[in-house]
Amino acid sequence: MALHDAHIHLDFMDNAREVALAARDEGLGMFANTVTPAGFLRTREAAGDLENVHVGLGQHPWWVDEANLELFDELLPTTRWVGEVGLDLSPKRPHHERQIEAFRHIARRCGASGDKVLSIHSVRAADEVLSTLEETGCTQTCRCVFHWFSGSTEDLWRTIRAGCWFSVNEMQAGTRRAKEQLKLIPAERLLLETDLPPGEGVPFTLDKVERSLERALARLEEIRSEAIAKQIEQNWIELSS
Ligand SMILES: [Zn+2]
Repeated sequence: MALHDAHIHLDFMDNAREVALAARDEGLGMFANTVTPAGFLRTREAAGDLENVHVGLGQHPWWVDEANLELFDELLPTTRWVGEVGLDLSPKRPHHERQIEAFRHIARRCGASGDKVLSIHSVRAADEVLSTLEETGCTQTCRCVFHWFSGSTEDLWRTIRAGCWFSVNEMQAGTRRAKEQLKLIPAERLLLETDLPPGEGVPFTLDKVERSLERALARLEEIRSEAIAKQIEQNWIELSS
């Protein structure tokens, strides 16, 4: 089967093009997330010409300090792929109000323009994130992918009912909560991701990405007691078409 990585950080790798080219040779599709509009420009420069790589225009909540929403707005019409965006309202992360303001702005723009694919970071914020996506029309006009969903099971049901997608990584699939939650997601809304690499400015290998995707898939199949590889491959084709 052809694997895909619906949430990877080529922007954190100093050999991004090498990894992206190796992925192309393996037929592995990628949603390359970035954390700032400047990172999007860099990553697009490095790998945006490759047909297997979709570079996301990002404004990650941890980097809201460096937010450049003017540049975000300027670049949005040039890409269908948006990520990483979202909220982290855990106590250790600052600037909650500014995060909410920035995310509302981004969701309004995406909802109004339509046909975007969003990769969404949400920590202690599932309710706020989903309300924002619904109020701005994003859940209607765009495809919203929750990356590494960590909310309650009640939040998960609400997110499923809103028609959202879920990209699952091996760390997430290894938790106790995941054992309960990953059975509940409709098969046609599941994707794989790695969220790799673990740090910034490091060289990386495609091999590590593939091994991580395989482990995520194996855990997912074990938890759901079903073979799901074909369906997941189909989901990626649908998402990226
Ligand atoms: Zn990420």
